[in-house]
Amino acid sequence: MSDLRELYQQVILDHNRNPRNFHELPAATRKVEGYNPLCGDHYTIYLDLDGETIRDVAFVGSGCAISKASASVMSSMVKGKSRDEADALFERFHRLVTGDSSLSADELGKLAAFSGVSEFPARVKCASLAWHTLHTALAGAENVVSTE
Ligand code: ZN
Repeated sequence: MSDLRELYQQVILDHNRNPRNFHELPAATRKVEGYNPLCGDHYTIYLDLDGETIRDVAFVGSGCAISKASASVMSSMVKGKSRDEADALFERFHRLVTGDSSLSADELGKLAAFSGVSEFPARVKCASLAWHTLHTALAGAENVVSTE
């Protein structure tokens, strides 16, 4: 295992053990549920949108370590960002976990922790769940997201 891979592993373990923004959000203007039936990952993502800005984001739910760490990293990255910036991150994350290795470390930031996921197709849905749910919430739909 390379040092880099070990560092990524640490990020995922840390965010799984101590998930950021892991609570309900009474002030949320959008609330969307995401479900990955293949693994049983199930989260609700709350967004407090102020015009084009994500004023606050939080999530609750349960699932495997990858899915929870991904939701935690997602929430910490998009808080305070504009809708366009969040969509750009979603796009980058999607490229990363589907095996696009052309993204630079600068473009990825903490997302790089999930670069190993593309080697495990079954885990791609786990890692993507929170991002897909966020994407749906930003698009204005209020419904249940399933990655199946
Ligand atoms: Zn999972």
